[in-house]
Amino acid sequence: MKTYGIIGAGLAGCEAAWQLARAGRDVVLYEMKPRRFSPAHHSENLAELVCSNSFRSAETETGIGLLKLEMAELGSLVMEVAMKTAVPAGKALAVDRDLFSREVTRRILENPHITLVRREIANLAELDAQEHEALIVAAGPLAGDELSADLARIVGHDSLAFYDAIAPIVLTDSVDMDKAFWASRYAPEDKDYLNCPMTEEQYLSFVRELVAGEKVAPREFEKEMHFEGCLPIEVMAERGEMTLAFGPLKPVGLIDPHTGRQPYAVVQLRAENLEKTAMNMVGFQTKLKYGEQKRIFAMIPGLENAEFLRMGSIHRNTYVLAPEVLTPALELRNRPGTYLAGQISGVEGYLESAATGLWLGLFLAGKAELPPQETALGALLGHLRTPAKRFQPSNVHFGLMPALNKKAPKKKRKELYAQRAREAWKEWMGRTDG
Ligand SMILES: Cc1cc2nc3c(=O)[nH]c(=O)nc-3n(C[C@H](O)[C@H](O)[C@H](O)COP(=O)(O)OP(=O)(O)OC[C@H]3O[C@@H](n4cnc5c(N)ncnc54)[C@H](O)[C@@H]3O)c2cc1C
Repeated sequence: MKTYGIIGAGLAGCEAAWQLARAGRDVVLYEMKPRRFSPAHHSENLAELVCSNSFRSAETETGIGLLKLEMAELGSLVMEVAMKTAVPAGKALAVDRDLFSREVTRRILENPHITLVRREIANLAELDAQEHEALIVAAGPLAGDELSADLARIVGHDSLAFYDAIAPIVLTDSVDMDKAFWASRYAPEDKDYLNCPMTEEQYLSFVRELVAGEKVAPREFEKEMHFEGCLPIEVMAERGEMTLAFGPLKPVGLIDPHTGRQPYAVVQLRAENLEKTAMNMVGFQTKLKYGEQKRIFAMIPGLENAEFLRMGSIHRNTYVLAPEVLTPALELRNRPGTYLAGQISGVEGYLESAATGLWLGLFLAGKAELPPQETALGALLGHLRTPAKRFQPSNVHFGLMPALNKKAPKKKRKELYAQRAREAWKEWMGRTDG
């Protein structure tokens, strides 16, 4: 019987291997550790959590909480071991990281369908002789350099990114429309941008706070960053009091309908999805700590009570521009038979990475089709096939799901999204053999 090859025994790779093995398929799992470690990996164990030990919220009225439920119901290895090694963390699911990785490693090693090969794969052609039934690349955001270069050759150099500069995403319904207004530059009738106008005083105190705000220190291997075209908002602010007012916050061509005047500065938000339920803060990629982002961005008129679907960040991250290079089944268009899973496929986060591996394993074993986009897993996979001007990896959140098409207060809205997701999931599970 032919085997399935998986490159990378991280969260996605282990989960995919487990699902294939559960379906009776034989898997060869290639892992470069301990021969070579990425700059963030240190342990010989598999499924290493390189930073936080948290799998985030367990509340079922959040995208990530729903994803946990869905993964657990599909028989996720990562969820099963996370529950077994959980440590008290309030409303979040956090684990003892060593116990977690050790337990995943033990289960993988003991599984008769999985062979772990400790070897770095430098290029995909290396594995051609193995004649794997299918190959899954799950080498993560810090994939080995040679393999990354090979992947770049396959998908095209413009379709593989090495850094991710993320601006926060805000829930549209949480923006105060008594202060913000829709318009494009020089086109007040256009509804392309949501604009938050600032007075001189508001702008200057905002810039001061940006400069003073507490930042996340760059990791050693991230020191070389900072591209001129994609500078953190606080770095631009440090260059001079007026840099932002002449840059991403410039007000020209925008008249505030509330005052009939051009504001001193304007923060623009661009739609993140067709239904405009989620808005991206233009130019707000940042290394400010999450708490600081919430505090300082609440100074922007209209965003005082904004609900953030995603916070800003800038980090090393290898990923493909998924909608261009992957089929909906995560198969490389330019190399049929090779699939991507995990962070490198264009998702963000431990559980999101594991979730793509989980689904891909089930799909390749003929056990599951694509889930509907109303579900958390379906929304996440939907993100990977949704064309975007500037594709960026995403966590799972309600903004990736179809709009509710009804107005509801914040608390109720979450309930409605969650309720709809659960119903769609149950219906899909009824048709699934996972
Ligand atoms: C520094 C950093 C911190 C992060 N912190 C968090 C966080 O706190 N919370 C969160 O939710 N997400 C975090 N992420 C994002 C992401 O969730 C994790 O990176 C996650 O581990 C991704 O899962 P994965 O399976 O795609 O890749 P990984 O878990 O990284 O697994 C990839 C595996 O492939 C192996 N590999 C790489 N190249 C090769 C090769 N050529 N041949 C063979 N093996 C290879 C690696 O050794 C590794 O074991 C962070 C990312 C980075 C880079």
